[in-house]
Amino acid sequence: MNYYSSQISKLIEELSRLPGIGAKTAGRLAFHIINMPQDQVNNLSQAITAAKQNVRYCSNCYTLTDSELCPICSSEKRNQHIIMVVENPRDLAAYEKTGKFEGVYHVLHGAISPMLGIGPDDIKLKELIQRLQGDVEEVIIATNSSLEGETTAMYISKLIKPTGIKVSRIASGVPVGGDLEYIDEVTLLRALEGRVEL
Ligand code: ZN
Repeated sequence: MNYYSSQISKLIEELSRLPGIGAKTAGRLAFHIINMPQDQVNNLSQAITAAKQNVRYCSNCYTLTDSELCPICSSEKRNQHIIMVVENPRDLAAYEKTGKFEGVYHVLHGAISPMLGIGPDDIKLKELIQRLQGDVEEVIIATNSSLEGETTAMYISKLIKPTGIKVSRIASGVPVGGDLEYIDEVTLLRALEGRVEL
């Protein structure tokens, strides 16, 4: 039974495809959008389309950016010889918020998970190994402390060890399974400063 106009049903259907949005929330959002002023609706839909069209991976660290190189990779103030490996751009943002990390990043876009069938080739790992052919002093592995994050950290350290480049892991104390982006800045800084060489 279709209670709503087919256009509203379509909007609800599309919204409910978003993560964390159930049918009820999708309905609420759809009716909110219908009641929004036309120019706000235009801004929203243009922002979605423009972001999707223009945002791409940085050719060096693979974070999301709208230019060839992200602002961090192209900054002369950053130490390009220290690379912090994170799972996703949100983790990068969490470390950037501390304002204390002066190196650069490498974004894996995921973590190794045998259970979900995600292997080393499914994340940006080859790209990391390629970067190590440059002048790299240290790789700091800042994947989450979940099973997948730890598996990925082990895998990366085994790959890097033979190259003689220093590899370290952020200190535990970051809650197990906790997404880095939800952890406060003080905890992140402590984890970074207390990193241990692998
Ligand atoms: Zn970059």
